Amino acid sequence: MSLTRKPLGSHHRIVIKIGSALLVDRKSGLKKDWLDAICEDIAALKKNGVDVQVVSSGAIALGRTVLGLPSGALKLEESQAAAAVGQIALARAWSESLSRHEIVAGQILLTLSDTEERRRYLNARATINQLLKIGAIPIINENDTVATTEIRYGDNDRLAARVATMTGADLLVLLSDIDGLYTAPPHLDPDARFLETISDITPEIEAMAGGAASELSRGGMRTKIDAGKIATAAGCGMIIASGKTLNPLKA
Ligand code: GLU
Repeated sequence: MSLTRKPLGSHHRIVIKIGSALLVDRKSGLKKDWLDAICEDIAALKKNGVDVQVVSSGAIALGRTVLGLPSGALKLEESQAAAAVGQIALARAWSESLSRHEIVAGQILLTLSDTEERRRYLNARATINQLLKIGAIPIINENDTVATTEIRYGDNDRLAARVATMTGADLLVLLSDIDGLYTAPPHLDPDARFLETISDITPEIEAMAGGAASELSRGGMRTKIDAGKIATAAGCGMIIASGKTLNPLKA
């Protein structure tokens, strides 16, 4: 699904959100080849003069694997401990992979209040802008280790949309294992139609988004449509695309 039709390279500032399932395999951990390939795509965009920011999920999924936690729902404190372990590995992996292109990465961990309270919002925005100014790529995630149930985004789709509007991005790309919006969940309804372009998020469009989420990720189509509302209200286009192949941005 896309709300924009311009080539990626013609944008000024892009936020790329990457879902956990693309980066982390429950058994083997980090998908290094996939990460290296997306860093190639990011380096190419940057060469074209595009400011790129990454909102990377995967801390909890990676931490679970590193700690060998069993599958199934985690208690809040368990997922916070998993995030603490996973985030440090995730940030290092991004930093190493981007450094092959002589790009420096900077880690930004945000809570809901950092995007909603004016003083913190201005601080976060200033730091991200400064990183972009010096040519670094902000690698952003929710600060899962301190965010509690009531005061958290919980999903990085909406967080990425807030980051996009906060930093004046003109495009948000949501990469996950879902290629876009269908009129009905395609795995349940053989007549489901793929919607290529959506110019307006109407109540009918919202009704098409189920809640589907996998064990690895928190978001589903619901949070992606919510992200679309946040982004487009601020004049930022949004693309939902599958990241299942290597080099998804180039593709
Ligand atoms: N912040 C979570 C993590 O890094 C991911 C949230 C989501 O899946 O959207 O594990």
